[in-house]
Amino acid sequence: MSSYVMEAENLYKKYGDLEIIKGTSLKIKEGEKVAIVGKSGSGKSTLLNLLALLDRKDGGKIYYSGKDSDDFKDEEIVRLRKGVISFVFQNSLLFEDFSAKENILLTLSISGIGKKEAEERSESLLSLVGLKDRMNHRPRELSGGERQRVAIARAVSTSSSLIFFDEPTGSLDEEAKKSVEDLLFSSSLLEKKAALIVTHDKDLKDRADTAYLLRGGRLEKI
Ligand code: ADP
Ligand code: MG
Repeated sequence: MSSYVMEAENLYKKYGDLEIIKGTSLKIKEGEKVAIVGKSGSGKSTLLNLLALLDRKDGGKIYYSGKDSDDFKDEEIVRLRKGVISFVFQNSLLFEDFSAKENILLTLSISGIGKKEAEERSESLLSLVGLKDRMNHRPRELSGGERQRVAIARAVSTSSSLIFFDEPTGSLDEEAKKSVEDLLFSSSLLEKKAALIVTHDKDLKDRADTAYLLRGGRLEKI
């Protein structure tokens, strides 16, 4: 068994004639927190989308738990999305007609968790992210930072072993940013989960186990 959650080798991606990712490789261990920084337009989101199998690569290999993703059938991709990987984006989409708690319950229900356990888990996660008194608020009744906390609680609620974050603090003010960062690194929230965090936030980069700079379509360890 591979101790890597995800391994990518020699990835390529182009849009038209524009080569964005040019032969980059990356391995993520169980529980490892990896940051990728880079200038705007350097291809960070493109790379994240490739790794998360949200977009099609033009070359290279991606393995999940040692299995070649090129051999994945539809149901394996579905299983990956339900229970192995999850996502937090800069402005994460929440279900607007549902409360914070229901947003997490829905996700847990999709991943097959029973009702009672889902109730307990969603309440304890929302408490952990500091939204104990906001569980029944709808997304529009929450601040940007609070919405991001719901998205993070939702992402960690399933059995996922790798969470992809694309600029998770990108649209937050300093105070909200700091508290989301503390949540990612100082709380028990991500304890056993690996994380790939794409960011241009230096503080976040400094707190990761491993950090890379994406430049010229390749990752350089920094
Ligand atoms: P970053 O996240 O680092 O800011 P992106 O990965 O979003 O950068 O974009 C990298 C480059 O690829 C940019 O020049 C962007 O214009 C281009 N790009 C991204 N998505 C597409 C697309 N769907 N079609 C064409 N070009 C794209
Ligand atoms: Mg981006």
